[in-house]
Amino acid sequence: MASVAMNGGISADGAQRKLDAIIIGAGFSGMYQLHCLRDRLGLNAVVLEAADGVGGTWYWNRYPGARCDSESHSYCFQFSDELLTEWEWSERYPGQAEILRYMNFVADKLDLKRDIRFKTRVVGARYDEAANRWTVTTEGGETLTAKYLITAVGCLSSANVPKIPGLETFEGDWYHTGLWPHEGVDFSGKRVGQIGTGSTGIQAVPVIAQTAKTLTVFQRTANYSVPAHNAPLSPERKRELKERLAETRRTMRSTPNGHPFVIENRSVFDVDDDERLRIFEKQWEMGGLQFRAAFKDILLDKKANDEAANFLKNKIRQIVKDPETAEKLANIDHPYSTKRPPIDSFYFDTYNKPHVKLVDVRSDPIEAITPKGIRLKSGEEHELDIIVFATGFDAMTGSLLRLNITGRGGRTLSESWKAGPTNYLGLQVSGFPNLFTITGPGSPSVLCNMPVPIEQHVEWITDCIDYMRRHDVEAIEATPEAMDRWVAHVNDAANATLMPQAGHSWYLGANVPGKPRVFMPYAGGMARYRGICDDVAAKGYEGFEMTRASAMAK
Ligand code: NAP
Repeated sequence: MASVAMNGGISADGAQRKLDAIIIGAGFSGMYQLHCLRDRLGLNAVVLEAADGVGGTWYWNRYPGARCDSESHSYCFQFSDELLTEWEWSERYPGQAEILRYMNFVADKLDLKRDIRFKTRVVGARYDEAANRWTVTTEGGETLTAKYLITAVGCLSSANVPKIPGLETFEGDWYHTGLWPHEGVDFSGKRVGQIGTGSTGIQAVPVIAQTAKTLTVFQRTANYSVPAHNAPLSPERKRELKERLAETRRTMRSTPNGHPFVIENRSVFDVDDDERLRIFEKQWEMGGLQFRAAFKDILLDKKANDEAANFLKNKIRQIVKDPETAEKLANIDHPYSTKRPPIDSFYFDTYNKPHVKLVDVRSDPIEAITPKGIRLKSGEEHELDIIVFATGFDAMTGSLLRLNITGRGGRTLSESWKAGPTNYLGLQVSGFPNLFTITGPGSPSVLCNMPVPIEQHVEWITDCIDYMRRHDVEAIEATPEAMDRWVAHVNDAANATLMPQAGHSWYLGANVPGKPRVFMPYAGGMARYRGICDDVAAKGYEGFEMTRASAMAK
């Protein structure tokens, strides 16, 4: 063992040790990747993290109501029985603060923090062909080099603040949900405006409404939502979950989306109208993301989807008392679940409160932010003290592109992805040897309960690096042909579903002006994806070019 104390890749005397791997990001992905490379393979690895703590998305997203939509017993690492049995969740869905506590528990348990350099933002990474090493530059001007570069930057971590003219003139305060102040925001006595009604906005509205003097929600696209029915876990339920750890893990590994529930093997029109209604009602009462698992064809057949969509639109009309507001909320233009389906705690009910108002900015768009508030195209102005941007992220590619990665021949990742992201298995890009992208575009990632694809990716990358070391391989790189085949497969998988029909979704990059429209996640299902990745590895990493040390030296 090393005799000098190491801290985040720097020894006590300030010298940099020779690194095998640099991992960017200390969320679920980066933490597990560090554990695998350092503790399983014995590599010298370091994590560079912009924040001053672990947690990734859960470090930044501290907005009111922030909670995971995956059930707590499934939103955690599955690789260690010890971690699973020692940790106990308190609620059906874990809140942001509890997830952050969990991640610190894992980091401490695995002694990860000594190899994480916090407050270290990566601003550039360049591949040095002669040395076969990556040089990473930090915002502080330091450089670190390593053979392997692994991005663990998350899919939803590059905040999207829309460029609305006049924001700089606003005399009140404004916040983006993904960069929420740690000390919180006091809404009491304030006139609050919220832009955005995605999963985040739908969680924030009921909580902000509890203390704000008034809350005005600016809705561009109406959205479905199913109640979460969040509640504390009873002692019996906690016991049951502990007894069923192995079963839960098996289910999560076998389902297309990594959740601990199975999709029923029946179609919407296999049952008559009464039975279908009874099933939807039961799913609504159960709450959560498994609403869509009641039938197997909701995401495949538009007519089947219409049944689910109409049921959910009728629920909105039943809950919201003012018919005009109800109609604005139920005027949803895309099939159910073709955008990420939110779940909520009293979202629609909140519009029954007299101080909460919905403004439809599809029919009357936001024109400008003024010193006093928000002005619409019609000239209507809303005076506000605080604006909350629940406007989402430059998803999947934003967090990778802002790393300014340059590969072989000086070609940048943004040049390679000008027309949209292309890669192989979501894991590797031709021209960027030894660079691995955990949950990159083209992987199932965001269509799943995230810890499942993350664990699979990390383990696959670890096995791959282990293979390289055992077979004297210095560099691995996806071939252009394998990338082309994978991109075509990702497109086919998306087109087999209704998902591309939601033309304005962030899955397509449509929420960021100028971003190429490409369906980014792999919609073929996590279990299938896992099988493909295993097969690629079993065939000696088919589709990748491996360069041996002997060839490198020439
Ligand atoms: P989002 O789904 O992209 O929603 C952004 C919202 O802002 C949309 O309603 C969008 O309208 C609106 N918007 C954006 N720009 C606007 C503009 N210029 N004017 C008016 N409205 C504008 O972002 P999100 O809600 O932050 O969610 C992102 C993803 O994070 C989710 O889909 C989910 O995967 C993840 N998430 C998960 C959880 C969880 O597990 N609990 C919670 C929150 C988020 P349009 O639809 O018209 O573009």
